[in-house]
Amino acid sequence: MLSMSSPLHMITFIEIVRQAVSELWPCYTSDVNIVNFPPQFQQIGASGTCPHCKAVSLFVPVGGACSIAMGTTHDICNAVQCQACKKFALVVGRRMSTSGDHNYGLVDFYPAGSPNDAVDSNVPSGIAEDLREALRCRWVKAYRAAVVMCRRAIQSACVDKEMADAKLQNQIDEMATKGLITEPLKQWAHEVRLGGNDGAHPYKDGLKDVIEQDADEIIQFTGEFLHHIYVMPAALAARQASRAAPKPKTA
Ligand SMILES: [Zn+2]
Repeated sequence: MLSMSSPLHMITFIEIVRQAVSELWPCYTSDVNIVNFPPQFQQIGASGTCPHCKAVSLFVPVGGACSIAMGTTHDICNAVQCQACKKFALVVGRRMSTSGDHNYGLVDFYPAGSPNDAVDSNVPSGIAEDLREALRCRWVKAYRAAVVMCRRAIQSACVDKEMADAKLQNQIDEMATKGLITEPLKQWAHEVRLGGNDGAHPYKDGLKDVIEQDADEIIQFTGEFLHHIYVMPAALAARQASRAAPKPKTA
């Protein structure tokens, strides 16, 4: 029978906590760094974007850590508190005793935050929702789905601008022919179209799989495209309206 202080019992406890929390909240490590304290404190904290309040914050340990060494692996789990909003989180770290380094590397951080899927309000709602969905897909590393949604956003914009042809390749060219987009924007739109094709079909016959860099670039191109199509004209119209408005008389 295991005692409460046995190493096997403790590592089982850490795993139980990790599994229970991960089922509630997906892991959140992309915007957080682990903070190591001198070894005698036997605690860890974290710094980075708070999943609760979105502030870049420091997460200080509250209470002692759950710590266990098993073989050459040393795991530690610490409850922490955001210094901006005072809400709690959980940090899990790991180090290898064979490395000679007393610092822990970040394994997990809970709870998960939420993706920044904000899109400028001047982008029509249906098109904005396409891009928002792409951003949420990117956040969960669904790269293929992300680029497919970007392709959909570009085609939604073509439909919104009343391009005649039903084929996206021709719709993009038509946008350029009619002067709605510049040559570089046309090239970007075609890159999004081709990236979307890669994401939507098995990678053979000239298609390739979609990796993180692809998704990031396609999302950036899509954002720039929509910015030029919808956001800049709205900003220009607002400025022109402002200049045309009667100026207050000076004394
Ligand atoms: Zn916070």
